[in-house]
Amino acid sequence: MKVKGFTCQSFFERLIKLIYPPLPHCIACGETFVSLYPLAFCPSCLDRIPFITKPVCSRCDRPLRGGEGDLCRDCQRETRYYEQAMAVAVYDGYLRELLLTAKYNFRPDLARGLGTILAVWAENETRLEKSEVIIPVPLHPQKLALRGYNQAELMAGPLAAFLRRPLRCDVLQRIKPTVSQSKLSRREREENMRGAFAVVNCPAVAGKEVLLVDDIRTTGYTLSAAARALLLAGAKRVKVLTLALGVTTEGWQQ
Ligand SMILES: [Zn+2]
Ligand SMILES: [Zn+2]
Repeated sequence: MKVKGFTCQSFFERLIKLIYPPLPHCIACGETFVSLYPLAFCPSCLDRIPFITKPVCSRCDRPLRGGEGDLCRDCQRETRYYEQAMAVAVYDGYLRELLLTAKYNFRPDLARGLGTILAVWAENETRLEKSEVIIPVPLHPQKLALRGYNQAELMAGPLAAFLRRPLRCDVLQRIKPTVSQSKLSRREREENMRGAFAVVNCPAVAGKEVLLVDDIRTTGYTLSAAARALLLAGAKRVKVLTLALGVTTEGWQQ
């Protein structure tokens, strides 16, 4: 039977899909799964992510070794331009694999999917309550042209939607084509990031608490340089949130 180009079968199929919507597929392994949260990953993939557990540094979420007190050695030694740094998991194992794939294998969908972990993590995070605007750390235009997308921007999307805060990608710009931080010493990393960012839209951040979002934090120099530019533009306070935190027992790793 056909009614105005509509078959009975398609009508019932649509009705069934409405009552029993198809299960989502995990963005990483492809398995179907059920979740109470709007996550892009199945429970077994989530189990493989090395989430950060307490005790952590009260300023930067770095897991603390015994006897370090409230702040990690790095925070005791140096200050950063951001007031607080938050991180969800350690940059290691499966998470490292996922982030490298999201960045270098042209997987913008995976980058966006990783943002759902940030979003769900943020649900009960009191340190984010006063954030008024979310800004992803930008790539230099040359790098953006090569990669095709900014993974930090894609990851910040689900977070901004979940927190109902504006996501502004037209405020902060990367004006210096910095070399890769991975092979540089701490001092060289700091020097490399000096003057790397500029704010082109000061009213968007003036007097506001800004949440800067990136995929990974290692030494924090990149995020600190971005925070400095935002403070110079009039931001009241800058906090940073990354999905991953690079930590080793000897020091920082890329
Ligand atoms: Zn999975
Ligand atoms: Zn710290």
